[in-house]
Amino acid sequence: MREYEVPPTAGMPLRFADFLPARGEGDFLDTAKGMLGVSHAGLACSGTASLTLLLSALRLLAPQRRSVIVPAYTCPLVVLAVARCGLKMRLCDLAPGSLALDPCELARLCDEDTLAVLPTHLAGRVVELETSRRLAGEVGAWVIEDAAQAFGARLEGRSVGLVGDAGFFSFAVGKGLTLFEGGMWVTRHPELAASIEDASRRLLPWRPSWELMRSLQLIGYGLCYRPSLLPWVYGRPLRRALQRGEVAEALGDVFSADFPLHRLGRWRQKVGARALRRWPAFRDALQAQAQERLPRLRALPGVTVFEDAPGGEGVWPLFFLQLPSEAAREEVLRRLWTAGLGVSRMFAHALPDYAYLRPWVEEAPVPVARALAARSLTISNSLWLDEGRFARTVHTLETVLAD
Ligand SMILES: *Cc1c(COP(=O)(O)O)cnc(C)c1O
Repeated sequence: MREYEVPPTAGMPLRFADFLPARGEGDFLDTAKGMLGVSHAGLACSGTASLTLLLSALRLLAPQRRSVIVPAYTCPLVVLAVARCGLKMRLCDLAPGSLALDPCELARLCDEDTLAVLPTHLAGRVVELETSRRLAGEVGAWVIEDAAQAFGARLEGRSVGLVGDAGFFSFAVGKGLTLFEGGMWVTRHPELAASIEDASRRLLPWRPSWELMRSLQLIGYGLCYRPSLLPWVYGRPLRRALQRGEVAEALGDVFSADFPLHRLGRWRQKVGARALRRWPAFRDALQAQAQERLPRLRALPGVTVFEDAPGGEGVWPLFFLQLPSEAAREEVLRRLWTAGLGVSRMFAHALPDYAYLRPWVEEAPVPVARALAARSLTISNSLWLDEGRFARTVHTLETVLAD
């Protein structure tokens, strides 16, 4: 067993003191709202649950509209949330070389039936929103920003989630600040906020057994999220799944359509409130490390390093790269995926290519999303990825790309 393993994304480590009863740390939701500068927001048990609340609220406002446009390369949980709300998914391919929705495809898909469009700030990268806002606006649909991976990211000086009509963040393990599972929705419309609060009271019951399990899991995270223990809790299961050839399982991409819906407990909110006080400094440290390392990734021949759209200031849990060929990506992963250096992949497939999602996902020609699934990889921006380890990754990329 390895003695040191870097996690695939820069999660914020918790401290012993975060778990102790303490006074005066403030309320998690209020602190988060203050930090982001949002007025209308709420918590849920996951990002997926937050999206479920947003869609349920919109459905009541426009019952005749039944479809939601989502990027063809995103988290499978988005599909399950759309399905859970009884809505129909429509897949939009990405614009070539970008993580934004393809404008021509989006224009073709938007119609009187469209309830919402979901531009996604994947990997902490801020995508352009003007096109989605204009095209959704023309047909009377809403823009929901999927900011599950982008808590703290800003566009034109405002938090993501406020540029569109609404948005949501995830506090799942692997997305930066974590409550093991958790989510937050935001909106700039007070009336919409009131409907989301209503949906929250209807759809999120108090579930003590789920909350107890999540609390124990959060304690487990607090104890085990360190390079000396990650070989056991992250590396070993990863290697086993890959040995079985189960890529989607290795990436944690397989979820139940019956995902839990419940309230986020008080105690975990307290833990989060204490962690949140350290979060601005943590975000700044990741940003500084990213600025230093980005030029070396940009210099790799034929590689696209995804960056923020103009006016965007994203967050940096990881670097998201697209290589010139699938063969090169496979070779890099063969050398590095299980090397403990924080190299991994985003999602296993474009949405039409997950067998278990077939009941909800239409077959669609989405060549850009499929190429991204086949040719992309991620490099952790964890502060535990020291210079020597990062240099090894860059060197391996250079070697493979030179062949
Ligand atoms: C993780 C993720 C979600 C779902 O968030 P959970 O908190 O895991 O439910 C939605 N969209 C994207 C892009 C994600 O990465």
